[in-house]
Amino acid sequence: MSKLLILGGTTEARLLCDAVASKGLDATVSLAGATSNPARLAVPFRIGGFGGAAGLTNWMSNQRINAMIDATHPFARQMPWNGVEACRRACVKRLRLLRPRFQGPCVSDRVDTLTEALNMLPMRSRVLVTTGRKHTEVFEGRPDLTIYLRTIEPVANLPSHVISLEQRPPFSLEDELALLRKHRIDTLISKDSGGVTAPKLMAAQTLELKTILLTRPNQPPGPTVQTVDQAVAWLHDVVGFGS
Ligand code: NAP
Repeated sequence: MSKLLILGGTTEARLLCDAVASKGLDATVSLAGATSNPARLAVPFRIGGFGGAAGLTNWMSNQRINAMIDATHPFARQMPWNGVEACRRACVKRLRLLRPRFQGPCVSDRVDTLTEALNMLPMRSRVLVTTGRKHTEVFEGRPDLTIYLRTIEPVANLPSHVISLEQRPPFSLEDELALLRKHRIDTLISKDSGGVTAPKLMAAQTLELKTILLTRPNQPPGPTVQTVDQAVAWLHDVVGFGS
């Protein structure tokens, strides 16, 4: 019997769990443990790092995994590389499920780092930042800005010009418009995560705000699909699940 490992932490991973559960496939989803209250999942889950590629190789061998779908976030820098190496060592078929980049006319600039994005801003800009909890120390370099930092989990020790907004997605276009208007935001800094982040970009476009996106990290080579349906087709056609 084929056994699937899903590397999760995204909406796509959750939807893939729904799809494989509805087909009665044998699957486990793995979460890093980054959020304290993970969303409900339709297949058994495990939480926490594996201990690098070697740990993941051992775990998959012990669990007799023979297929992996890496549905981690486009900005997960390490796990996709660990997954490639572990699948090579353990002879496991691997697929990357990666949502497409955001395509739209509203992006003012694309940069590699949050520091670069901040350095582009005029004095006293009012900024909504949705790039996550990491690297918040770089805000100290621009005390003239008013920064609203939106995160799912709380962030400790922020400078006084950074206001924390704890909010859990999904957000509608109306939600995003209301937020941007309420705080008189003139610039949005976000990640080029694609998919579900579109409403905030559409809202920024509607209000004609400056929008700066952080570019994605490089992905390892290998078969890649963009949708859950394509991933399910791969399971059927390439791995032979459900045949
Ligand atoms: P990362 O840099 O790729 O991963 C760092 C380490 O966390 C990995 O080496 C691994 O530890 C562990 N890890 C990551 N994903 C895991 C998973 N699905 N199951 C078990 N262990 C995992 O990723 P990150 O940026 O820290 O993100 C952590 C998780 O949050 C990812 O699963 C990602 O999908 C999700 N997420 C990330 C972002 C983002 O912007 N980075 C946004 C939304 C969701 P070991 O080496 O010990 O195995």
